[in-house]
Amino acid sequence: SAVKRSNYRIASIPADGIGPEVIDAGIAVLKKIATTLDTFELDFTNFDWNSDRYKKTGKYMPDDALKTLKTFDAILFGAVGAPDVPDHISLWQLRLAICQPLQQYANVRPTKVFRGTHSPLRNCKTGQLDWVIIRENSEGEYAGHGGRSHQGQPWETATEVSIFTRHGVERLMRFAFETARSRPKKHITVVTKSNAQRNGMVMWDEIAALVAKDFPDLKVDKMLVDAMTTRMVLKPESLDTIVATNLHADILSDLAAALAGSIGIAPTSNLDPTRENPSMFEPIHGSAFDITGKGIANPVATFWTACEMLSWLGEKEAADQLLEIVEDVCEKGIMTADLGGSATTIEVTQAVCDEIDSKL
Ligand code: ATP
Ligand code: MG
Repeated sequence: SAVKRSNYRIASIPADGIGPEVIDAGIAVLKKIATTLDTFELDFTNFDWNSDRYKKTGKYMPDDALKTLKTFDAILFGAVGAPDVPDHISLWQLRLAICQPLQQYANVRPTKVFRGTHSPLRNCKTGQLDWVIIRENSEGEYAGHGGRSHQGQPWETATEVSIFTRHGVERLMRFAFETARSRPKKHITVVTKSNAQRNGMVMWDEIAALVAKDFPDLKVDKMLVDAMTTRMVLKPESLDTIVATNLHADILSDLAAALAGSIGIAPTSNLDPTRENPSMFEPIHGSAFDITGKGIANPVATFWTACEMLSWLGEKEAADQLLEIVEDVCEKGIMTADLGGSATTIEVTQAVCDEIDSKL
C-alpha cells in the first residue's frame, strides 16, 4: 500500500521591499527539495498583507487574519517596512500582530560563518562562530506598556515599561536550555543587565539559576549585555547558545549577523514551543528598499529560514541536507554582492536548485 506522506500547508506573507524577491526564491527551493526527495509535500498559500495594502485600506491584515493563519502548519514571512510608513506602525500592525496573539514567545536566531564566506573579524574562521541566540519574543522591553502625557509640552513625559513575568521568563529560559542541550557544545550564556536594572533583570538571573538546576549537563555562564558585545567580537569561539531579553537579543543578533559576514544570511524563527499555534519563519533582514527590484537581494537568509521551518515541521533530515547544499553553493563562490560575489538572486537560487538535482 502507498505510504502516506506528510503534507504541510504553509502560509506565505512576502510583504514589502525585497520580501517578495527572497520569498519567491525560498519557495522555489522548497518546492524543488520537496519534489526531489518525494518524502513530504508542501502546499503554499500566498497572502498580500503588506504596506501597499495598508496605504490603500488602512489595514495590513483582514479582521479574520489570525483565524486564517491558525489553519496552517507554518508561516513563511518576508520583510515588513516601507519608506513612507512609520516603522512602529508596520511592525506593530503586521509582524507583532501575528507573533503576539499566536504566542510565538521564543525567537530563535542561529548565526554562523558559512563555508566560502568571511567574517569581518580577523582570524575568525568557519566553525569558530556558530551561535544560536534565543530571544524572548512576547514581553520585556517590547511589551507595549507605557504612554505619553502632556504631548508637545516641554514637560511631556513618556514611559516605556519593561514587563517581565515569572511565567514568561521561565518558559523562555527552559526552551533556551533545551536548545543548548540539543547542540554539541552543551553551553549556554545567560545575558542580562542585572547590575543596573534591579527588578526584571534580577528576577531573570534568579530564574536562570533555578532552571539551570534541571540541566546539570550544561555549562552555564552569565554575562552583562555590554560585556557580551565585546566577548562576541573578541572571543566568538567561546560562545554557543545565548539567551537574552527581547531588546538585548534584538541588538545582539544584529551584531551576530554582521560578525557572520552579512545580514543577508541569518534566519529567525518565531516559535510557539507548545505547538498550539503555527510558528513563523523569516529572514532576519528587513525590507531593504535601497536594493529592492535590482535582483541582487541575497536569498541565503531565506533558504536557511526554509531549513529552520522544515526542521520545526519534523523534516530535520531534509533541512540539514538543504543547509549543506546552500553552504556548498557559497563555497563555490556563487554569492550575491553583500557576500562579495556578483551573482543575482535568481542565479544563486538556480545554483541551489541544480545542486539539489545533483546531490539528492
Ligand atoms: P528594517 O527597517 O526592517 O530593519 P531596512 O530597510 O532598514 O529594514 P535591513 O534589512 O535592516 O534594511 O538591512 C540594512 C541594509 O542591509 C539594507 O539597506 C541592504 O543594503 C542590506 N541588506 C539587507 N538584507 C539584504 C539581503 N538579503 N541581501 C543583500 N543586502 C541586504
Ligand atoms: Mg534596519
